[in-house]
Amino acid sequence: MNLLLLVSLLEIDLTTGQEVRRQWEPEKAIPVGSLSKPFLAFAYAQRHGFSFPKIRCHGCWKPGGHGELDIVRALALSCNRYFDVLRSQVPEEHLQAVVQQFGLHHPERAEPEQLLHAYIELYRRAEEPGVASILQGMRQAARYGTAQALGEDAYAKTGTAPCTHQKRAPGDGLAVVLYPASQPRRAVLVRVHGVPGSVAVRSAIKSLRSQSSTCRGCSSRTPQPK
Ligand SMILES: [Zn+2]
Repeated sequence: MNLLLLVSLLEIDLTTGQEVRRQWEPEKAIPVGSLSKPFLAFAYAQRHGFSFPKIRCHGCWKPGGHGELDIVRALALSCNRYFDVLRSQVPEEHLQAVVQQFGLHHPERAEPEQLLHAYIELYRRAEEPGVASILQGMRQAARYGTAQALGEDAYAKTGTAPCTHQKRAPGDGLAVVLYPASQPRRAVLVRVHGVPGSVAVRSAIKSLRSQSSTCRGCSSRTPQPK
């Protein structure tokens, strides 16, 4: 199989809004899996006075469950049980209207560019009610959650979605990363064939580091006046 098909990647420079790297064959909407969770959370918040529940997970994709979760932990660990409960309390037409605010046509499927831009829009709305908790969950995902393989302070969300490649795998890993967390300059979406999102996220950091290492290198090599 073509290597390009195994790792798809899209990277946007947040200072210019320009696409700086694309390794993604033209494709229609793909299943987004758990990458829909932040937008579902936002839709829930709008309908529930911008507060989130605590929910006990006795078992979802994680056997034995995640225990009691608030929104931050639920996003960090990508608990399906938590978001199933939120979903049951958000009318379908409201969810549809909310994802459209973020430039998406459907809560569960999106074209890669649309999906990445939706996350950039979410970050730009950091000051809006409800959004801070969602972004905090994405930050904790990178610290202790499903995106900890990044090994960097960032905003991240991972997901595992049904494979759409010709040679079918059990699933494809997806990850969105906004980096660095202190002031994101880059946004990356990756999809890696046949691995979970928690592994796919490693492909994102390779791309992000290859940008920033250039800068670190040149500043450290700057000759010092004697
Ligand atoms: Zn769970």
